[in-house]
Order: sequence, then structure tokens, then C-alpha cells
Amino acid sequence: METCEICGTGAIRERCVACGRRVCTEHLWVQVGVCVECGEKEADALLEVLKEKGAVQFGEFTLASGRVSDYYVDMKAALTDPKALRLVADRIAPYAAEAEKLAGVELGAVPLVVAVALATGKGYLIVRKAQKAHGTKRGFEGALAPGETVLFIEDVTTTGGTLRTGIEGLREAGAVVQRAVVVVDREEGASENLAEAGVVLTPLLRARDLRA
Ligand SMILES: [Zn+2]
Ligand SMILES: [Zn+2]
Repeated sequence: METCEICGTGAIRERCVACGRRVCTEHLWVQVGVCVECGEKEADALLEVLKEKGAVQFGEFTLASGRVSDYYVDMKAALTDPKALRLVADRIAPYAAEAEKLAGVELGAVPLVVAVALATGKGYLIVRKAQKAHGTKRGFEGALAPGETVLFIEDVTTTGGTLRTGIEGLREAGAVVQRAVVVVDREEGASENLAEAGVVLTPLLRARDLRA
């Protein structure tokens, strides 16, 4: 039996689209079709750009919650730069193949959703943050047919509360949502929160990937 070119033991699942090596399930990033080593290289290259644009900073930061963190993420610093925006959009674009529409919750995800729409030709929806006392106002902008599959895109996730509310709102309008892609997941519960709602959260970078 032929075996994985990384570990030498696993049964071959697929060829890495980046380096061409044939790897096992454990050493493949299934969704994007690259091996774990190529995936890590891509993550490093992305992190470099985010650091360069000041979107990821290291030091001592007091978060809005009052908690102290040793890193700070502000994706607006990167997503207002066309080069960085394009890089991030290109990383997300392969996931759009599995959906008919894209969606993002205002405001942070909007430039990203638009950039991925331009890169893939898929239509998109802008989901409003939950509002009180505006009962007649629709919760989103854009055209959605019942049963359409929608890929959610987000800039940063912490607990995932805002994203989950946005997804549930769009589901009420008939959307089928199975995945959300986020640029940086702070790994503070978002993945578990979305899993509870039956949504897979796919981060391009996780808190553990962030290094000074
Ligand atoms: Zn392997
Ligand atoms: Zn590879």
C-alpha cells in the first residue's frame, strides 16, 4: 500500500494542490486541498501581512471586556488596504465554491464579503446586527431565495455570538448555512458556539498561530 508522503504511515487520501505530495487524511486540510505543511506556510505568509499592516499587534492590551490580552487584533487596519484585502479574499475564495451566496455581518465583514464576491462572482448579503424595536426592518440586504446555501465570512471571532445571531437570522429567512470562514479566531468559544448551531467555523488563523 502506498502511504502518506509526510508521515509515511497513513493511507493516501489526496494530492496537495500546492506541493503535489500525496498525503493522508490527517495531513490534509480537506477543505482547501493542501497538505498541513503548505497550509502552515500560507498561514505564516498571511500573518506576516497582518502584522505589517498593524492588524495583529503584540504587547499588553486591555480588551473592551476589561480582560488583559497579550495580543490585539484589529482587522480594519488590514482590510482597508487593497493588497491585504485581496490576499485575505483569495484565501477565502476556495470555500465559496460550496455555496450559492456569501454573507457577512455589518460592519467588519463587509469589505471582505465584497472582495470575495468580486473574486468569485457570487452574490452576497449584508446581515444587520440584531436591533431592537425595528420590527418591520428586514434583517439583511441582498437577494435570498429559500433554500439557498450561504457561506458566512467574518473578520474576527471571539465567542462567536454576533456571528451566530446573524446566521440564525438568515436561516429564518430560508438560508442554508453550514460553514463560516473567519480570518482570525481568538479561540474563546466561537468554534463550539457555532458547532452547537450546526455550523463549522473555519479559521485562516487561530490564536495559537499568532506569534510575535
Ligand atoms: Zn500522513
Ligand atoms: Zn503541500
